[in-house]
Amino acid sequence: MYNIKIPLGASTILDTLGKQGFEAYVVGGCVRDSLLWLTPKDWDICTAATPQEVESCFDGYRIIETGLKHGTVTVVMDDGQYEVTTFRTDGVYSDNRRPDSVEFVKDIREDLARRDFTVNAMAYNPSLGLVDPFGGQSDLAAGRISCVGNADDRFNEDALRVMRALRFASVYGFTIADETAEVVHRNASLLNNIAVERINTELCKLLCGKGCLDLLLNYSDVITTIIPELTPCVGFDQNNRYHQYTIYDHIAHAVSNYTGVDVTTKVALLLHDIGKPQCYTEDENGGHFYGHGIPGKEIAEQVVDRLRFDSVTQKDVAELVLFHDSLIEPTPKAVRRWLNKVGETQLYRLLDMHTADALAHTAGMQQSRVDKCVEIRKIVDDILASEQCFSLKHLDINGKDIISLGVPEGKVVGAILQELLCQVIDEQVANEREALIQKAKEMIK
Ligand code: ATP
Ligand code: MG
Repeated sequence: MYNIKIPLGASTILDTLGKQGFEAYVVGGCVRDSLLWLTPKDWDICTAATPQEVESCFDGYRIIETGLKHGTVTVVMDDGQYEVTTFRTDGVYSDNRRPDSVEFVKDIREDLARRDFTVNAMAYNPSLGLVDPFGGQSDLAAGRISCVGNADDRFNEDALRVMRALRFASVYGFTIADETAEVVHRNASLLNNIAVERINTELCKLLCGKGCLDLLLNYSDVITTIIPELTPCVGFDQNNRYHQYTIYDHIAHAVSNYTGVDVTTKVALLLHDIGKPQCYTEDENGGHFYGHGIPGKEIAEQVVDRLRFDSVTQKDVAELVLFHDSLIEPTPKAVRRWLNKVGETQLYRLLDMHTADALAHTAGMQQSRVDKCVEIRKIVDDILASEQCFSLKHLDINGKDIISLGVPEGKVVGAILQELLCQVIDEQVANEREALIQKAKEMIK
């Protein structure tokens, strides 16, 4: 009667434990996602059996002692690995992060009571049915994230839940229940006690969620807690006919307008106008932010470094912020130059950003910019499909060739190749060996 299709490995685990007299359920995210008709990412199991009892039930199976202290062992089945956790309550939280201790309990309801949100606090066993003591099903139906029990306590125990509330709401397009929302706002600053790696994971999921616009708009206090550099953008009137939103609201719309799945693009959009407040000038036409990509890049670098993004993402985001406002002419020459400068992945990202950015401008001011992105994208596709030359590695001549013309090894060789590449990109010479050697000889002379 419920759409909960338990995979074979997990149902074998439930049966095996059940036959030994131990209650066991699939629990948490897999139940929530199944009831939303989504495919669960993983199937967690909880049981009345202690970790030792679980281990002896699965004698002969591979067992990984994942987190014995917290009651978790991983059982390896043919179709995958399953975390099996003993019903537990959490002890005191003295650091807003993790319980000082956990205590094993016999009642599933006590275990569900320690979980963060009602939609995550449901458990299911095919013969015992759905256990939903906190109204998870009705919150799912209403599209609502609300805390299990007292919201204040929950966020004080583990402040990451502030970000998790936003993340789940964004991913499922839900709203946060009034009482929970009020406590989220009140406890946002507790996020300062949380490891940034955990915040990073939740932030990325939030940005990629279909409901991210409402969350970014309504919880700017949470976002500026983790990225204080955005604070000057909040409420900043752009005083410009192309802009109907404040800087921060424009950013939120731009993030939301990009509906792809690339996290780098999402993060770059979140930071793309972060340099604007300090570049503001006014004239008779209103407000301007000339050159804001340059300080924007500097600030973005600090943000992504502090949030511990990997080094490639850090570099890519900084470059995208720097160039997000650059003009790209829709001509093959100009596009080849851009391909040379940033590479194809980043150029496609820049086009996605331009589109998302344009759509977040005043209605009526968008279409020509969006059309231009479509046009440029076609040119990029065409350059790549026809394998046109836009980088040194495509050049039909290399350093050895230049050296064999009598140029001593060193910087000059590189400079000659670079100049030849520019001429090929600009169609002043064909990318053909003979022609390039001829050009090189002229240069050497
Ligand atoms: P997903 O796997 O889609 O990110 P999930 O709900 O499965 O979402 P997990 O982090 O895998 O999230 O956690 C599994 C379950 O453990 C959750 O559904 C929830 O019941 C509980 N849980 C996880 N993190 C917390 C937390 N910080 N506070 C309270 N309960 C939590
Ligand atoms: Mg999970």
